[in-house]
Amino acid sequence: MIDASSPADARSPFDLHGRCAAVTGAGRGIGRAVAVGLARAGADVVLVGRPGAQDATRDAIRDIGGRVDVVDLDVSDLDAVERVGAELTGSRQVDVLVNNAGIIDRQDTVDLDREAWQRVLDVNLNGLFFLCQQLGRPMVERGHGKIVSIASLLSFQGGLRVASYAASKHAVAGLTKALANEWGPRGVQVNAIAPGYMATDNTTALREDADRSRSILERIPAGRWGSAEDVAGAAVFLSSPAADYVNGHVLVVDGGWMAR
Ligand code: NAP
Repeated sequence: MIDASSPADARSPFDLHGRCAAVTGAGRGIGRAVAVGLARAGADVVLVGRPGAQDATRDAIRDIGGRVDVVDLDVSDLDAVERVGAELTGSRQVDVLVNNAGIIDRQDTVDLDREAWQRVLDVNLNGLFFLCQQLGRPMVERGHGKIVSIASLLSFQGGLRVASYAASKHAVAGLTKALANEWGPRGVQVNAIAPGYMATDNTTALREDADRSRSILERIPAGRWGSAEDVAGAAVFLSSPAADYVNGHVLVVDGGWMAR
């Protein structure tokens, strides 16, 4: 907790020096921007993702003088989540977990088969839950830690032709609140960020559809698609002492979409 009345505590409440943050799926898009943002705020960063995919982000963080490690993990492999989670927490103190890895599957729901449904749930929800459990356990024991999950506007809305994604992201919002209730009294804050329509690989199909792209843009008060970097500040905030009294919240970063 920051003591604003103490002149001795001159650190910014957003300062993450001395903290270690693990970010999943940090090789591109929002995960990459969040990992770089956390490093800029002073955190040591662990990039957790598929082999080889984190290298460019690792180099970018080194270029700005940050301390960074890479850990290989496919978050949909629950045995690997258990093994890698135990290795991670056994070798260092992880103060912040950012659950960013996620996939989307756009198709008509009448055609959605079991495997396609399962794939999205395994990455977006099951891997996320067991990583929360694995990395959250020592936070709870220590009485200190932050978890930030990347949810979605589809944690509140249904979307079009994305049933598995909407179900998984509603579940992420529910899980965020459930963990906040259970772990808040033990000093661990669990929050989420709901990005709006951001120009990343996740939304390429929407931006390539001229009609859909126009109708989305017309509803965004900011008058533009979001960038991955637009999410980084919110992630730094929720990872930092500035958010010590914020718990169970899903912070919308959407250029005003939800206000319409
Ligand atoms: P993206 O560019 O497609 O990035 C997805 C990231 O997730 C990649 O780094 C990818 O790694 C990683 N990932 C996927 N499956 C994985 C697995 N099994 N194990 C480990 N990592 C895996 O999309 P993005 O927009 O940055 O998405 C990041 C998060 O934001 C997702 O949770 C997404 O649902 C959420 N989100 C995005 C938007 C948006 O408008 N873009 C809006 C709301 C929420 P690889 O490079 O190895 O594939």
